[in-house]
Amino acid sequence: MNVLVVNAGSSSLKYQLINTDTEVAYAKGLCEKIGAPDSSITHKNLIKGTKLEKAAAMPDHAEAMKYVIESLTDAEYGCIGSMDEIDAIGHRVVHGGPYFTDSTLLTKEIFEKLQLCKAFAPLHTEAHIMGINGCTAVMPDKPQVLVFDTAFHKTMPMEAYFYALPYEYYEKYSIRRYGAHGTSHRFVSAEMAKILGKPIEETKIVTCHIGNGSSITAVLGGKVIDTSMGLTPLAGVEMGTRCGDIDPSVVTYIMEKENLTPAQMDHIMNKKSGFLGVSGVDSDSRALEATIAKGPSDPSYARAKLAVDILCHGIKKYIGSYAALMNGLDAVVFTAGIGENNASLRESVCENMEFLGISFDKKANNENAHVSGNTRISTEDSKVAVYVLPTNEELVIARDTAEIAAKA
Ligand code: ADP
Repeated sequence: MNVLVVNAGSSSLKYQLINTDTEVAYAKGLCEKIGAPDSSITHKNLIKGTKLEKAAAMPDHAEAMKYVIESLTDAEYGCIGSMDEIDAIGHRVVHGGPYFTDSTLLTKEIFEKLQLCKAFAPLHTEAHIMGINGCTAVMPDKPQVLVFDTAFHKTMPMEAYFYALPYEYYEKYSIRRYGAHGTSHRFVSAEMAKILGKPIEETKIVTCHIGNGSSITAVLGGKVIDTSMGLTPLAGVEMGTRCGDIDPSVVTYIMEKENLTPAQMDHIMNKKSGFLGVSGVDSDSRALEATIAKGPSDPSYARAKLAVDILCHGIKKYIGSYAALMNGLDAVVFTAGIGENNASLRESVCENMEFLGISFDKKANNENAHVSGNTRISTEDSKVAVYVLPTNEELVIARDTAEIAAKA
């Protein structure tokens, strides 16, 4: 089956065409600045290795989808003859709230229910709806499937997802931990179990998805028992521009002192904090690494180093606490932009963890700073295997979509 995987943002639309029989990705691309005068599309044919970049007028997601189809069927850059060769569409959905715990076929009722998720992720949900509407306008008869980033975390026990606030807020507003990046944690934990060569039911794995947004998950026997992100993707470890876990009283304290509205405080915690806020340099880990490389004489060195140290400290703490929750550990996985590319961060996290059974292989880690395939970075005799595994959320979405669309 050929599945078009769509990841719609408010002004962008990423896509990939994957054949689920062979699990080969034929093409991928990105529509940018949808709704702006300078919108454009970048399309890559992954089989031929060719790339098309062009300005394209995209007032909305439906117009963007027309360009996606045009690129996929283009005589020179395309990979299919016509739209008929697309069998189904799979959408990445960031937050399923309390309403969705599994991937599901899009129906009129499901579309109505999706509107309720706006309460938990307003901007993302709005963007997904635009993406769905765009696909429906261009391909009205194709089955569409929704795959939720929160779904993999549905197995958390109540003590892991419940916040110790008055019970009524859970009942009234469904306030609880939902987690994020579930599709990525699901993919890499399953890959890790295969590498361990044990049935997944017998594995204890901590997966560290460390990118612009980061989350860490304890996967016991293939099921999530805890995860670092919360009601929204603001909780957990420090991120590019997000603060991660802080004492909740800090929020009210700063709001009072600085006379801020909830929206202003939300903006500070989501957009002005993390790497950016601590370092004053940048939200991107590469910029921080470059600053640190200049050495202590650079005026930004100390704060850039502090920003990175806070993240390493946070990841280490989560690994230790999740090992405690699982009564042991078989493997630690690093994935996503930073996890797959930042060797010094992986070393800082994994050094001095011998008590836990981690024997870190510095040489393997440094030689494989940027991985393109599954890579072991612990020694052969390490009790706990440490791996870098490139994530592939699109493949998980394509697999779920093919399975559900075939039944439909
Ligand atoms: P998102 O959460 O937006 O999907 P990514 O997973 O792409 O983010 O991660 C972005 C982070 O990964 C940035 O801090 C960036 O510096 C880092 N990163 C991505 N690619 C590389 C690379 N090739 N080398 C070093 N760092 C990288």
